[in-house]
Amino acid sequence: MTPPLPATALLRAVFRYCPRCGVPEPNIIGDRQLQCPACGLRFFFNTAAAAGAFIFHHEKLLLCVRAHEPGKGMLDVPGGFIEFDETIEDGLRREIAEELHIEVGDFHYLMSAPNDYPYAGVPYKTADVFFVCEAHSLDHLRPADDVAEIRLTEPHTVDAGQFAFASARRAFTALLATLGPAAS
Ligand SMILES: [Zn+2]
Repeated sequence: MTPPLPATALLRAVFRYCPRCGVPEPNIIGDRQLQCPACGLRFFFNTAAAAGAFIFHHEKLLLCVRAHEPGKGMLDVPGGFIEFDETIEDGLRREIAEELHIEVGDFHYLMSAPNDYPYAGVPYKTADVFFVCEAHSLDHLRPADDVAEIRLTEPHTVDAGQFAFASARRAFTALLATLGPAAS
């Protein structure tokens, strides 16, 4: 398993000056808190909420191949970051509509897992929440630019190691355990 990102060193490289008063090298305490000795600013780097969906259609699982880094060319589930003042479920439904242009039925909670999402040199730490749902129709399926390819697969033929992120690998393994053995 990949160890978690060393967030402190990376945040130190990004926040080289206090964002309020401009003093160089503010203190980064315990991975999560910036403290400025000059102006007293205390700023917390919080975990970002994100959600992903294992979408089934006629017992086939819909998976995306990522078009961009991080994890370009690897598997992912539809989903993304939750916006301010949005519920996890509304955010996930919005992300699915934006990424695939489809609507899905009720979400059934699967599990959550922490994740690292390094983007443009910033080490984002996320709490990913995974759900299972059903797409009744794929007639309007049209992937957005950040999806290189859509795959509709028999879940047991997918290797968890093909997923870009540790959280999705864990969730996919948990999903397989709920599905029981493959049909022969
Ligand atoms: Zn300051």
